[in-house]
Amino acid sequence: MKYYPEPILKLINSLSKLPGIGKKTAERLALHILYAPNHEAATLAADIIELKNSIRLCSVCFALTDQDKCRICTDPSRDQTLICVVENPTDMAAIEKANAFLGTYHILGGVLSPIDGIGPDDIRIHELLKRAGSKKTKEIVIATKTNVEGEATASYIIEKLKQTKINITRIASGIPMGGDLQYIDQLTMQKAMEKRYGV
Ligand code: ZN
Repeated sequence: MKYYPEPILKLINSLSKLPGIGKKTAERLALHILYAPNHEAATLAADIIELKNSIRLCSVCFALTDQDKCRICTDPSRDQTLICVVENPTDMAAIEKANAFLGTYHILGGVLSPIDGIGPDDIRIHELLKRAGSKKTKEIVIATKTNVEGEATASYIIEKLKQTKINITRIASGIPMGGDLQYIDQLTMQKAMEKRYGV
């Protein structure tokens, strides 16, 4: 790629750092940006700068927001007595996309993982317990993933909240709709069996 001038090489290098973008795709994108109308390239550059300057974490739930409190924490139609605990903003987005929840969230920003040296102080468990301590919280739905770390995190939170009067629930997990049983992993199957219900 030495035949490209330095500014193009620099952009190829920056773009190739993005997830899923190899050198070849980065080269194609850089040339696309080069030939794009000036205003399109300027908008892309400005959008990236605005994103970095304006996005912060909601002071209540730690979701991504461009305000002090996020859209959900300030929405009077959402049930503020109900908190769904998730690992990260993408999990929250997945639940929002499913349109199946009308409460609020608490984003932990990770899961407990002793092997990686991640303990309760490294994720936002204290903040959750503080929220739980306020009188208005009635139910906490734990929606961490059903892998080992997600389960350990859920158990830790449940233990910490046991003494409170808050109703603690865990989202049901199991066989996905239309899922072929032979492709279901062991943990999913165990959970599906545990949560079996009468018909
Ligand atoms: Zn919020």
